[in-house]
Amino acid sequence: MLIDNHGRKINYVRLAVTDRCNLRCNYCMPAEGINFAKSDKLFTMQELGKLSELLVDQGVDKIRITGGEPFVRKDLMVLFRKLSKLQGLKDISVTTNATLIGPYIDELKELGILNMNISMDAINRDTFERITRRNQYDTVYENLVRLISEGFNVRINFIALDGQNTQDILPMLELAKHYNVSVRFLEEMPFNGGSKKFQSIVWDYKKILAHIADAYPDYYQLESPKTSTSINYKVPGFKGSFGVIPSFSRTFCGSCNRLRISATGDVITCLYGKPSMNVRDIFRREKSDELVKQHILEAVGSRAKTGFEAQKKYQGVFDNSMTSIGG
Ligand code: SAM
Ligand code: SF4
Repeated sequence: MLIDNHGRKINYVRLAVTDRCNLRCNYCMPAEGINFAKSDKLFTMQELGKLSELLVDQGVDKIRITGGEPFVRKDLMVLFRKLSKLQGLKDISVTTNATLIGPYIDELKELGILNMNISMDAINRDTFERITRRNQYDTVYENLVRLISEGFNVRINFIALDGQNTQDILPMLELAKHYNVSVRFLEEMPFNGGSKKFQSIVWDYKKILAHIADAYPDYYQLESPKTSTSINYKVPGFKGSFGVIPSFSRTFCGSCNRLRISATGDVITCLYGKPSMNVRDIFRREKSDELVKQHILEAVGSRAKTGFEAQKKYQGVFDNSMTSIGG
């Protein structure tokens, strides 16, 4: 069991399988990309499978596969096949931009991997293509609708970007009127590979909610798990729901149950903190399951209590890009 130094149980790991991506979302990285890791610095699928097994041994019951764009790894299904067989792993989730998932939808369904977070920051094509700096709108929209109609549990992640896409908040919310999806509006964080610095945001969760309340004053709050980062709501008559994620305001740190492992093996116990250690190096050097577990336990044992506390100790934090951290 992984218990941190503040008594919080860590049962959720976000595993980044690559830092590469076929989009260039302007809130995530510069147009030219970042200094992507060489392929031998990334875990192999076999290593990721083994690491997942060790984490599950330590009480982890939820793993989210993220990146970069996870589906740029052509052998990704090798990992999903392994994860789907791990006893004790109750929840396998994926965060994806939905550009490359099409050929894998049938097998994902067969494996029972149904929890899909799709990042889509505009319903308007021009806005979408301006933000992502690529022309993948049709593919994303088609895959989104296909995933919904195939019965996947789909959540849409929409970052509210001042001056870019906030006119799309209400039209995007309309999707929840017609489909059983959860549309989640996130605050922007300054993890964009240094391309844009900011100390505060205009569109925080309160402003997003106020904007929605103007159109739907009778929305009401839903119950959410204690460890949830989203606060969830429903508009009466809508098939789906919506949520806000105060990722910049950080109202949820107190109940944080998650650990991040970057595509190159950095163990990140807080999004706003410095990596604690590199588990890929230990994995490759020691070849001992017990030692790998011991290092993970130690990392968890020295966590910051909140993102604000972590940030104070780590000057370089905002030079990072989400494509390296995994969101
Ligand atoms: N490529 C996949 C995708 O976009 O869904 C997975 C990786 S992406 C880095 C994971 C999540 O981080 C996405 O939902 C994305 O919108 C979010 N993200 C990226 N940059 C962000 C930023 N600067 N602030 C807030 N969220 C961000
Ligand atoms: Fe790629 Fe996801 Fe970053 Fe967009 S948010 S550039 S899709 S990793």
